[in-house]
Amino acid sequence: MTDVNSKYELVLGMEIHMQLSTERKMFCKCKNDSFDSEPNVNVCPVCLGLPGAMPVPNLDAIKKSQLMAFALGSKLNSRVIFERKNYFYPDLPKGFQLTCPHYPISTGGEMDMSHLGLTGPFRWREIHLEEDTGKSMHTDKTYLDFNKSGVPLLEMVTEPDFTSIDDAVVFCTEIQSIAKTLKISDADMEKGKLRLEANISVRLIGQVGLPNYRVELKNINSFKFMKKALSYEFARQIQELENGKTLYQETRGFNEAKNETFVQRSKEEANDYRYFPEPDIPPIEFTEAELDEISTIELNLPKDKFKTLMDLGVPNNYINILVAEETLFKNVIALIKEYKYDPKKAVSIYIDKPSNRNLTPVEIVNAEKQNTDNKITDVSKIEEIIATILAENPKAILDYKDGKENALQFLIGQVMRNSKGMVDVTTAKEILLTKIQNSI
Ligand SMILES: [Zn+2]
Repeated sequence: MTDVNSKYELVLGMEIHMQLSTERKMFCKCKNDSFDSEPNVNVCPVCLGLPGAMPVPNLDAIKKSQLMAFALGSKLNSRVIFERKNYFYPDLPKGFQLTCPHYPISTGGEMDMSHLGLTGPFRWREIHLEEDTGKSMHTDKTYLDFNKSGVPLLEMVTEPDFTSIDDAVVFCTEIQSIAKTLKISDADMEKGKLRLEANISVRLIGQVGLPNYRVELKNINSFKFMKKALSYEFARQIQELENGKTLYQETRGFNEAKNETFVQRSKEEANDYRYFPEPDIPPIEFTEAELDEISTIELNLPKDKFKTLMDLGVPNNYINILVAEETLFKNVIALIKEYKYDPKKAVSIYIDKPSNRNLTPVEIVNAEKQNTDNKITDVSKIEEIIATILAENPKAILDYKDGKENALQFLIGQVMRNSKGMVDVTTAKEILLTKIQNSI
């Protein structure tokens, strides 16, 4: 089998579907909550497709899509046109889905994955925004829930640039991580908020150009499942070719129990969706200045965090854990930058001792210092430090009085920093509160 596998290479493109975390649906004011609500409560004439209903595009969804496309390295388009994609399905009451295939959010560009050791290129074909369909539930009967109908759905389509399944898994994981970092989607695969499709074919190594068929693998809802389904399909296609068979364009699903893919639909003819522009939504135009503004937003993407940690000399085996956990990342950076901890020590404190995970950097500093004999115990000395901090930070006092709890944490942090962590946090907090209450 190894010999046969070494004759062929994988040709793989991914389609990543992601529900956006917006307050409202894509073309109406219904709440975007298709998971926690009772069935069919977040619906209106627009998302039920009743005659005469007027769709109005959700600008927040469009802006989130543009930010995501920019973060992924794709080129933003100045014109987006929503079109009707006509087809019939019980969960699509209108008989068409609004999408923007010909004038999408972005076109081309490529994703930088060098920080993860992948060289690519991993090119984008396009990123478009559309509305999700309703949900069918099959038990003794089929039930329909339209809460999901009209939820903004971003579809990110790559070129068939992947020759390794592992690379594709890392790529999709990175997309999930970026979406979470930018708060564009919680990208929860278990809730169906991130769904993957793969276009997969094989060619002989050295063969130029794309194979004349591709198999669409649908409804991949976990990374583990993705790896299993793609590995099976890659091996199956090689076996078919080795047996002298011809492979055709078709859609397949994956049966996890049997660990094999099966034909869902043979596509000998292309679907005719009879696309045409939605007459109730004029083309949406963006000026160059508006698009440029997006490129000035500071994103702090996983790759940026990766670089920050690399530059600080954080050991490699800890970097992925820190990049994946926002609070942990912030806490470690605070220990290193604000409290001048050695990076290796800072990381080790949080990662090697799980009981420390819930502690703030200040609490860590305090706990560390409790073991030293140098603590400041003289209350008048502590009061003096606190008086200085309060005099320097009048705004924080006002903020705290306005109910902003963070302001107190900030002041405690300042006291700890000023005292190089030698003041007991509880004492500092008590004195701070007394002083703030006594101030005008
Ligand atoms: Zn609605």
